[in-house]
Amino acid sequence: MRILIVEDEQRIANDIAEAVSGGGYVPEIVGDGEDAWFQGGTEAYAAIILDLGLPRLDGLTILKRWRKEGVTTPVLVLTARGAWDERVDGIDAGADEYLPKPFRMEELMARLRAVLRRASGRAEPAVTVGAVNLDPRTRQVTVNGVPVSLTPLEFRLLNVLFHHRGRVVSQAELSDNLYSHDSERDSNAIEALIGRLRRKLKADVIETRRGFGYIVVDGGA
Ligand code: CA
Repeated sequence: MRILIVEDEQRIANDIAEAVSGGGYVPEIVGDGEDAWFQGGTEAYAAIILDLGLPRLDGLTILKRWRKEGVTTPVLVLTARGAWDERVDGIDAGADEYLPKPFRMEELMARLRAVLRRASGRAEPAVTVGAVNLDPRTRQVTVNGVPVSLTPLEFRLLNVLFHHRGRVVSQAELSDNLYSHDSERDSNAIEALIGRLRRKLKADVIETRRGFGYIVVDGGA
């Protein structure tokens, strides 16, 4: 099971990685907010340990964005000592567990195990629309049971549309969920991505609503 560790203080990150690895999990460290946001929304992790104070994009913003775009990976938030407001904000933003700094590694691991236990009991449903099945936990997409290989961005786009199935998602909203820099935002890029997705899926699940955006219509099986 892979665990993403988002922490910009190298020493703490390494200590956590050591404990995580000692617990039998596979740690992966990211020290930058924007990279963390992208990584956590794109790769499949069993859980994420998230520090709130990060360069480029703060932890709370990352967490809110993940939850808004349908990323349901369990998140354990690291807060500053005594900062009760950070804990409240973290829980409001969708954190599953929090731990004030400084902490003992034993406690971190106990909380991580608790988060993982709860997550395994809360089986996250894969979503099927027509012939297409998307499993947010494994990041697998199949069409009629056959796996389709998508790039991280293609997966992310499809995941956002599936998460909001039944309603029109505008290009601007898709851009918000796909790109962190304004400079990358380009409506042609979204159109091109949609085109590639449609070709790969060979199934008519994404409909265009001219002037409004895109919609995945749930047939309601
Ligand atoms: Ca920090």
